[in-house]
Amino acid sequence: MTDRTSELAENLARVEERIGAACAAAGRAREEVTLIVVTKTYPASDVRILHGLGVRNVAENRDQDAAPKAAACADLDLTWHFVGQLQTNKVRSVVGYALGVLPGPRRTRSAAPPGAAEREGRELGCLLQVALDAGSGERGDRGGVAPDGIEELAAAVEAAPGLRLGGLMTVAPLAGPYAGRQRAAFDRLMDLSTALRVTRPAANMVSAGMSADLEQAVAAGATHVRVGTAVLGVRPKLG
Ligand SMILES: *Cc1c(COP(=O)(O)O)cnc(C)c1O
Repeated sequence: MTDRTSELAENLARVEERIGAACAAAGRAREEVTLIVVTKTYPASDVRILHGLGVRNVAENRDQDAAPKAAACADLDLTWHFVGQLQTNKVRSVVGYALGVLPGPRRTRSAAPPGAAEREGRELGCLLQVALDAGSGERGDRGGVAPDGIEELAAAVEAAPGLRLGGLMTVAPLAGPYAGRQRAAFDRLMDLSTALRVTRPAANMVSAGMSADLEQAVAAGATHVRVGTAVLGVRPKLG
């Protein structure tokens, strides 16, 4: 084992232990929670090591970094998730490697790309990013739509050829009423998910929780946690 391999193995084991303990505490089965390792700013060689350690879901937030990394790992059995803000003209590129997940497009307009995903012959699952710190009709500091914007964005995704509404995601707000209250923020996301699933039962993914707050997300009922730092180390700069 190289030093990097043992480092990633140890980190991954610690994260697995945390997820397992959080599931046990919440009375949930471990299989109910999918770990997505956020590999942004780290090289394709790390993705390869993680795959060797059993990771099957990875995420990137910039298409220009993700596309070459995904190409370098094309021989691996991996699901690529896109967790950044996406412009219309990038959809086609992301569809090229991501079977999975992207959060809400920056504007409703960009939720309707010109059939790009359809032309690629497969559907791209979209998670709408909910900004719990955004007021009615506003956007959040860290991206996403205010809760009262979910319906309109959901309808836009459903109307877009090649896109499928997968569910909701959030990043715990740094400001506003939910600052420092991750569990309350994730509970609120779950309530919004429950409301969404009344009319759209298939949109059942709830992506919440990162390195610092994955326990709170699992406790609230998240189906996916997105973990970067705790597996790969502190990023040199914000990715
Ligand atoms: C970077 C990133 C993460 C991972 O954050 P860590 O704190 O490093 O675990 C999760 N979600 C999104 C959307 C990100 O951009």
